[in-house]
Formats: sequence, structure tokens, C-alpha cells
Amino acid sequence: MTQPSDLAADAPTHVIVGDGITAFAFLETGRFAPGERVVVVGRQATQLGRGAAYATGEAGTPWRYAYLLNSPADDIDPAFARWLSQNWDRIVDRMQGRSPDWLSMAAPLVAAGDTYGVNAPREFYGDFMAERLEEIVHRLQKTGVSVSFLTDEAVSLKQSQDGLLIGLASGGTLRARSVDVAPGGPSTMRIDGDDGPFAAPSVFGHEHRIARHIEAGEEIFCIGGNAAMLDVLRLCQSLLADDDIRFVACAPDGEVPPPLVPRLPRRMTQPRLTTGHATADSFLAEVGAEIDRARADGDEMREIRAGFRAHFLDTPLSVYVPDLNEARRVPGTLRLWLRGGTRDTIQDMHRLIGAGRARVMQGLVAGVEHGPDGAVVRLVDATGTETLYQTGFVVNCAGAGPNSRFDPLTADLLRQGLIDLCPVTRGLRVGEACRTGLAAVRYLSPSVTQIGDDVMAMPLYDAHMLRAYVDRSGGRALTTPDD
Ligand SMILES: Cc1cc2nc3c(=O)[nH]c(=O)nc-3n(C[C@H](O)[C@H](O)[C@H](O)COP(=O)(O)OP(=O)(O)OC[C@H]3O[C@@H](n4cnc5c(N)ncnc54)[C@H](O)[C@@H]3O)c2cc1C
Repeated sequence: MTQPSDLAADAPTHVIVGDGITAFAFLETGRFAPGERVVVVGRQATQLGRGAAYATGEAGTPWRYAYLLNSPADDIDPAFARWLSQNWDRIVDRMQGRSPDWLSMAAPLVAAGDTYGVNAPREFYGDFMAERLEEIVHRLQKTGVSVSFLTDEAVSLKQSQDGLLIGLASGGTLRARSVDVAPGGPSTMRIDGDDGPFAAPSVFGHEHRIARHIEAGEEIFCIGGNAAMLDVLRLCQSLLADDDIRFVACAPDGEVPPPLVPRLPRRMTQPRLTTGHATADSFLAEVGAEIDRARADGDEMREIRAGFRAHFLDTPLSVYVPDLNEARRVPGTLRLWLRGGTRDTIQDMHRLIGAGRARVMQGLVAGVEHGPDGAVVRLVDATGTETLYQTGFVVNCAGAGPNSRFDPLTADLLRQGLIDLCPVTRGLRVGEACRTGLAAVRYLSPSVTQIGDDVMAMPLYDAHMLRAYVDRSGGRALTTPDD
């Protein structure tokens, strides 16, 4: 692959910012002319496609391959499911003897001929994309398009007479005719005291420290009940036998999400919804009734969630709720109603709850204090009453929230008003086809909640949806009229 220093200074340049699956999709679907050069700028640019979710794990650690995709492989990407099936022997080799015993959890599906249904380790999805990336770069190079990878952080963007100027954290500047920005979502929200002797602000990148406390037999307390909490449970399972685990998850609703269980033959709920709702409440009442109907027909959360996702990809929310302000009130509720997670881990979690090794508490964590040999968590219940809870080690799995921070380029685009924040969803708004205030710049990340006049009915923290929206955004950003 070409390095940026090899590039002819005058060749027209398209810049892609980010190294996750959205940036990958911008490269994959881009329509580039012969002679054009494309520069991918990312914190780990050569790992394009992996991003935060599908990163290469640390060799030799027990928790490598422990973190799983939240959905059956074919719900993420049918091409990935095929790849898994074709590489199955290699995967069995890699997963042999690992704890938790992923191969045993996969065995019933494999026996039924349904490898497409497994919750694959996330790193394998990254491996699949690494292979795809080689093919894409090769294809582009054959047509005279050069692709290079620049490990750096984009911090600013402005339009000049010479084109778009992208400022880099290293101090340099890139000039481009068009830019696609795909920097991922904002940071996890910070909670007072979440980084200290007995607390980590995230599981990712803090595994060694957390592992020492798990191995010492301490209780591990997760703030939040979603996907990252399930990763912490897998981290515990990779280090200890079930009987030695002590695990607590604290979530506002006190619930574990339902598992997404694949069944054969695959089917999806087909929502029947009427158009022209004047209010979010009226539409949500109808969606609620459709979910109840689907359940009564025997559909489980995988079928319901996949069905609604496919439906809203085909039919935007504006068809049902034309008033934008009302439409913006829909996703918050749908996110809760349609949430689901990794089959393997959720089933393990219930087993561990049954065995008294894990439990779920209801409440909000207001802060963490550090004692001489453990943490004290300040919990607030639904009535606003604060109580204290003594535990071993706390991991912040709360996800994005009010004090989350965007990456510097997103912050710069917001400052310039090229994209903006929706006051209702607190997500980002971009224009039609992911365009920003500059026609030659597109933006897409999981934190986008509105594209043009379409409010996203379901959150974009979903690889399939991000790829779908890149695909329909038209191949590449418009270039400026004089190009
Ligand atoms: C831990 C985790 C697990 C997940 N699991 C699943 C799952 O199982 N299934 C699913 O469908 N979805 C999952 N998701 C949701 C996920 O957000 C999307 O699926 C998708 O991976 C997001 O891709 P992205 O490219 O938009 O963002 P990211 O994957 O976040 O990638 C953005 C990348 O850009 C880099 N970057 C950011 N700012 C800059 C900048 N200014 N300059 C240069 N580089 C920058 C970042 O370092 C990052 O690597 C998961 C997310 C996380 C965080």
C-alpha cells in the first residue's frame, strides 16, 4: 500500500477520516477516477475497518477473542457469515481450549448447520475486513487510484481557495477536494471517581489492571447493563472458573437485555404500521401493539429487532411521523423496546445469576469512592435516595452520556455549524446523503440521529446500518463546482 509521502502533490485527493467500519464503507463504496489519490487518516489508519469495536486483541492474553459480536453473524453481514463458514477450521483451531468455552456454545448451531448464527469474536469481523481491505485497495490500484494510510488525528477542517484543508494533530495539513468524516461515537461518559485504585473508566485498554482484581477474587461492579458490561463478564470468565466469579451490574432499569437467539429457518417480523401519525405517542402505541402481536405469533427479540431494523431502513420514520419534533421523540423509546444482545454472554449471565455468582442492581451510579481495600459506590434509586454500596473494583460501562466528548474534528465541525446537535435526541444532525454544511464533506458516525429530514428510528450503533447509510449516500461527497 502506498504511503502518503509517495503521492504526487497535484493529484486530486479524497480524504477519509477515521479507521472504523464507516470509514471502510466510505472507501469501499467511493467512486474514484483514475489518477485520483485517496488518503485515509486514522489513529490506526492501516487497521482500517477495525475501529474501536473490531480491534486486534493482545496476543497471549486469556481474554483475546473473548469479546463477541452482539448479533448472529448473518445479521451483521451475510458476507462475513460466509467467510466464517469458509474459515471454520481455522477458527476452531484458534478458539480451542479457550475460556469461556465459545466452541461449546457454538456447537448446537454448528450441529444444526447454522454457523451463520454464531456470535463470533469481534476480532474475527476485523480479520474479515482486513482481507476485504486488501482486495479493495488492489482493485482501486488496478484502476489507477492510489490509496494511502496516514496514522494521525484530524483536528480541523476548513474550506480555502485551494480546496479543503484538514489540520492534523501532528501539525501538518492535508489538502483535498472532498472529505468523508467517520470518527466514531463520543467517549463514554465519565462518572466521578471512575478512575482510581479501585475503578477503571472503561474496560477497553484497562484489562490488565481489571484482571489483577478479578484474579484476586474481588467483586467486579459494572456501571451500566449494556454491551460493554457483557464484555467485562467475558473478561471475568476468561480468568476464573464460574464458581469463583463475583459480578454485579448496575443499570437504571435493573435488567439484562434479551438475548438475540438465531432460529432456523431465519425469519423477521414484518411490522404493519399506518402512516400519518400526528404524535410520537400515537406511533409508539402502534409499534408497541405490533411488537406484542409479533410475540404472540412466536417471534423472539432477534426476529423482532431484525424485522424493525430492515423495515426502518426501507421506510423512514418521516413516513409515519411527518412532524420532525415528534419524530425525534420516537428513537429513545424504540431503543429500549428493541434492545438485545449477545446470546452466549446473556445466557451465561442468567446462569451465573441463578448460581448466585452474578446479580443485577437497579439504580444510577452518582460516584465512586476509594477505600483502603475496595471501592464504595454511591447509588441513587428512582426516588432520588442515595445509598452506599461496598464492592471490590468498579468498571465504567455506562456508554455515551451528557458529559461525553467528541473527537477534535467533530468538535471543530460543530463549532463551525457544519453539523449540529439535535436538542431532543442529543445526537448529531447531518444533511441529505450525510452531507455537512460544505457540499464536498460528508459525515457519518453512530452518534448521528438525523440524516436530512430523516430521524433515525433506531440507533446507528450498528455495523449493518452504518454501512447501509454510507451505501445510500451516493458513492462520494460532491466536489466543489470548479473541480
Ligand atoms: C466495543 C464496541 C463493541 C461493539 N459491538 C458491536 C456489535 O457487536 N455489532 C454492531 O453492529 N455494532 C457494534 N458496535 C457499534 C459500533 O459503534 C458500530 O458497529 C461500528 O463499529 C462503528 O464504526 P465507526 O467506524 O463508525 O466508528 P469506530 O469503530 O468508533 O471507528 C472510528 C475510528 O476513527 C478514529 N478516529 C476518531 N476520531 C478521529 C480523528 N479526528 N482523526 C482520525 N481518526 C479518528 C477512532 O480512533 C476510531 O478507531 C460496537 C461498538 C463498540 C465501541
